[in-house]
Amino acid sequence: MKVYINGDFVEQAEAKVSVFDHGFLYGDGIFEGIRLYDGNVFRLDEHLERLEYSAKAILLNMPWSREEIAEAVCESCRQNNLKDGYIRLIVTRGVGYLGLSPKNCTQPQLIIIADKIQLYPPEFYETGLKVITSSTRRINPAALPPMIKSLNYLNNILAKVDAVNLGFQEAVMLNDQGYVAEATGDNIFILHKGKIYTPPASAGALVGITRQTVFECAADLGIELLERNLTRYDLWIADECFMTGTAAEVIPVVEIDFRPINGGKPGPVTAQVLEVFRSKVSEQGQRI
Ligand code: PMP
Repeated sequence: MKVYINGDFVEQAEAKVSVFDHGFLYGDGIFEGIRLYDGNVFRLDEHLERLEYSAKAILLNMPWSREEIAEAVCESCRQNNLKDGYIRLIVTRGVGYLGLSPKNCTQPQLIIIADKIQLYPPEFYETGLKVITSSTRRINPAALPPMIKSLNYLNNILAKVDAVNLGFQEAVMLNDQGYVAEATGDNIFILHKGKIYTPPASAGALVGITRQTVFECAADLGIELLERNLTRYDLWIADECFMTGTAAEVIPVVEIDFRPINGGKPGPVTAQVLEVFRSKVSEQGQRI
């Protein structure tokens, strides 16, 4: 596999960053996870816009234009002969001194890894996920706005570890007020009495590109979709539940905190949303 680092393609084993990079030292950087479907990069412009917003929010001046980054993403896919895959785009603050101040970090690093996609096993799309609420809370938006897709994932990792150690596939994370924020790497949706609900960004949800696409899917299906603060109780009594993310796409949830959802089976509306989502990924995208 060839990895893009600052304009060069290098073999995987040679793809290295400095131990003085503040991305490594402090998680001081941002990233995107992007899908390649049949030679089309899905919603590349939206991903690059989110990357630019994340960069602006953390005062990281990216010296590359959106077009340059887009071309580097496409070239990374071509170099690796990929038609379907997952692209990880990382921008770090760059090399600086030990110490928190980034004032000596003058050269941000742009890294692009275009790889095969690692998905949940296919049976989870058939049988659905069993999830549990984590005792690890999502970072308070006042501490770090959830819209920033930063390299700081430690609390999400701890929540994922909680869930996996208990034998579950995924964890639901609450915010410090006890409202549902999202899963550790996916957004969450419920269906209740014919309407779909998802937590707002202000509750600690990342504004996922898949989430945005699901808003369009719901509109296509004529189903009302509302952003609302949700409690665990709302999840427990939901008629259906699903999670969304670039890698997971739309994945059904059939049990939350030991309470079965839709009798422990993926729900019909979730299946409809997934079908419309799949039609969108095959229609749209930037050719590599
Ligand atoms: N929430 C978190 C915390 C994430 O890391 C991600 C991306 N993996 C998502 C939600 C889903 O966002 P997207 O649909 O843009 O992949």
